[in-house]
This record gives sequence, C-alpha cells and structure tokens, in this order.
Amino acid sequence: MATTASLQLYNTLSRRKEPFAPLNPPHVGLYVCGPTVYGDPHLGHARPAITFDLLFRYLQHLGCKVRYVRNITDVGHLENDADAGEDKIAKKARLERLEPTEVAQRYTNRYHDAMRALNVLPPSIEPHASGHIIEQIALVQAILRNGFAYEANGSVYFDVEAYSRQHTYGKLSGRTLDELQGGTRSLDGQGDKRQPYDFALWKKAAPEHIMRWPSPWGEGFPGWHLECSAMSTKYLGEEFDIHGGGLDLMFPHHECEIAQSVAACGHEAARTWVHNNMITINGQKMGKSLGNFITLEALFAGSHPLLAQAYSPMTIRFFILQAHYRSTLDFGNEALQAAEKGLQRLLAAQQTLQQLKPTAASTLDVPQLMAGCCAALDDDLNTAVALAVVAEWVKNINSLKAGTASLTAADLQQLRTDFATVVEGILGLKEATPAGSGQQDLSASLIGLLLDLRQQAKAGKDFATSDKIRNELAALGVAVKDTKEGAQWSLES
Ligand code: ZN
Repeated sequence: MATTASLQLYNTLSRRKEPFAPLNPPHVGLYVCGPTVYGDPHLGHARPAITFDLLFRYLQHLGCKVRYVRNITDVGHLENDADAGEDKIAKKARLERLEPTEVAQRYTNRYHDAMRALNVLPPSIEPHASGHIIEQIALVQAILRNGFAYEANGSVYFDVEAYSRQHTYGKLSGRTLDELQGGTRSLDGQGDKRQPYDFALWKKAAPEHIMRWPSPWGEGFPGWHLECSAMSTKYLGEEFDIHGGGLDLMFPHHECEIAQSVAACGHEAARTWVHNNMITINGQKMGKSLGNFITLEALFAGSHPLLAQAYSPMTIRFFILQAHYRSTLDFGNEALQAAEKGLQRLLAAQQTLQQLKPTAASTLDVPQLMAGCCAALDDDLNTAVALAVVAEWVKNINSLKAGTASLTAADLQQLRTDFATVVEGILGLKEATPAGSGQQDLSASLIGLLLDLRQQAKAGKDFATSDKIRNELAALGVAVKDTKEGAQWSLES
C-alpha cells in the first residue's frame, strides 16, 4: 500500500521542501482558492486548477482520503483588490442588466465547462462565499472579541498594528510593515481605516450597493479575504493540511487569511502553503490592457489573434504539466505545437500498447515506469520529470512494436495497467472526445432518427406507429411539437 512517506512539498511559508505528513492520516484536508465568477474562464484559471487537480489525484493515488474544498467567490471581491471600488460581480450585473446571482451562476457554469474539458476533477466541496455570510460574521466577531479589529462607521477593519504586537504580519510574503506603509497609497474610501495596511473584514454597503446582508454593524458585505478563512475552518477544521492558490494571491489575500486565522483561533490554520507560479504569454504578463488576455474558449477554438491554431484542452493540460508548477510558464505557439506533438505520441503509444502481443521473455523492467513517475511526483510534484519518464516508456512501447524489445504476458498486462494509472489516473491525460460523440449529441441524434421514422409512418398513414413514437418519447421526458417547419422537440425539465 502506497503512503505519503516519501512525498515532499515545497511550503511557501517555511520556504523549503518538507516531508508531507497528514495531520490525521489517511485523511487530508486541501483548500484551494477558486475563481471569482464575473467573467469567462481564461488561461490564468487553467494553471492553478490543473496544478491542484494533480495534487488531488496524486494524494489519492498514495492512498489518502482527500477532502478537497475549492470555493467560488461570488461576493466581496472589489475592483482594486483592496477595500475600495465596486464589487466585480455587481458591476458586471449592472452592465449586463442581470441579477448578481445570475452573473455568478453564468460564469460558474462556464468555469465548470472549461474544467471538465481540461479533465479537472470536481472538488469534494465547492462552497460559495454568499452562502457563508453567517460564518463570516461569526469570524469577524471572534476577531473583534480578541482585540484584533475595530469598527468604524459601519465597517470593521483588521487592526494590523495590534496584531503585529503579538504576531508577525507578512510572514508568508516576507513583507514588513515599513514596506507596506510606504507602498500603500491612501485611496478614496479608506478614510475609516486607522492605517493604510489595515484591511476590511466587513464593509458597510453604500445605498446603491446591491449585494448586502444585515450584520451587528449594519447592512454590508464581507471583505474578500474573510470567506476563505471562514469556509476552510467550517469544512476542514481550525487546522488543516494544505492551502493552495496562485502566487498572485499570496499577498494580500493569503497573508490576510493567516492573520485572520491567528487572530480568531490563536494559531494558523494551514500547515503547508502551496503556490503555483504565473503564466506569461510570449514573455509578457497576461492582462486585458496588453491585448493578450486569452479566454479558455478562445484557446480551444483558436479564435484569438495571437493564436496560430486551436489547441485542444488536453494539449493545454499536457503543456502546463510539462513545466514544474513553481516555474513560470510562457505560452507561445511554438511551445504549444510541440506539446501537441508530444501528447499525440503519448496517446498513440497508449493505443499501440493495447495491440502488443506477449513473448516468452521480458527485456524491459516494467516497474520502473511507476517507480520513476512516483519518485518525480514525490519530489514536490515534479511533473516535468514524470513526463520525461513517460516519454521514455513511449519509446519502449515503440520498441516493443518494432520487435526490438519484448515482454511476457504478465509484464505486458502490468505495463498496460501502470501506463493507464500514470497517464490517465494521475496526470489526467486522455484522448479528447471528438465533437459530436458525447452523450448529449448521441441522444440528440437518436431523437432525430426517431422523429424521421415518425414522419415516414405519418406519411404512410401508419398513425399507430407515429403515435407510439410520440407517446414513448413523452414518457422519456421528450416533448414533441408539430409545427409548419416539421416536428420540434425539447427536453422537459
Ligand atoms: Zn482564497
């Protein structure tokens, strides 16, 4: 039975690789900051999703029972990432004349579609910030009670100075208060704060603010950093194993989370902090103003001017896994095309593997595939090395096909199992489903076929058959309506 005994993870907090030992084995609590749902999922969403999907899958492979919590931020993320500006979701709702909940639902659905395409497994729990207002208010009350926050004009702010007298604010990002003092500009709406680096736990809602809840301090909404502290505590406990997210969230978001947990509970919540590095595009940071902001949909369709072609979700996944998650990763057409070829070689080898015939003796050491991959992933999830090991076995499979290597029946079976476990199970790479062959498309084709038969029956005055088709479809929840243009169908919900 595999264990986490040899797994090492780089802990951003201690700034070194550490052996990973679950608090309560075989259970592992994993919390990852999820998307703020106010726009189409983009390239920036793909890397953390795939990085932590890999960690989720690998921990399970090692025999852990993982509770993976990834939140949906649907309230409180203000435009300038500080404590001022309009709520990003409320702004989108105002611009598109939708309910804020409608905006959040729309982009949550699109995020889920993109994640499914990338073969990212759903988390165990996906809590929404707006569904945990009570927990967030309770957390603010605890922090106030412990003397690490103050109320000002209907808002509540975290008192960084009071906190710093007993604890270290900035320990994750390595920033000092002096630096923060110098680096923070006094913005509009910060008038209630005692210090510019204090951050909002609860914000008073302006009259035009749509998303608002009653609280002991009047109507308002929670500060962005609060939700992750409240929801990780609720679902994983006051202390849990791993907190993940993109490096861009380290400050202020994760720094504030640590301060909130310590202020409320007296100790830190997450034992290991794992951060994935950023994606660049042709060497530049991705940004709307730079014209290189690529949504996942555009990437899959090849519809952005920077793209020479469409790239399948599996190519993107393969490309992201080719780099170690703590290195920066540059997106460019050449690199993506190379990844596409690498993925094709791998998937072709998987097909070949199914057709190979056993021989009397083995010339290859099959256990080396699994051992090599696990050794790479044990070393802080080194997927670059794991994929190199897989590439070596792609060559071996081609040698088996060419007859320059051989395996016994038992070894061949072992290789098939191990190759599938590594490639599909752990790395999550699989043959893309061709368009039109999905379950839904199949149902649509079958219904179309039945309606054609019904039309023929009607034309031949065989009303018994045409009625039977209509009634049986109705019994299956498919409503058929005859119109001038022909029969139309819809699924009854
Ligand atoms: Zn978070």
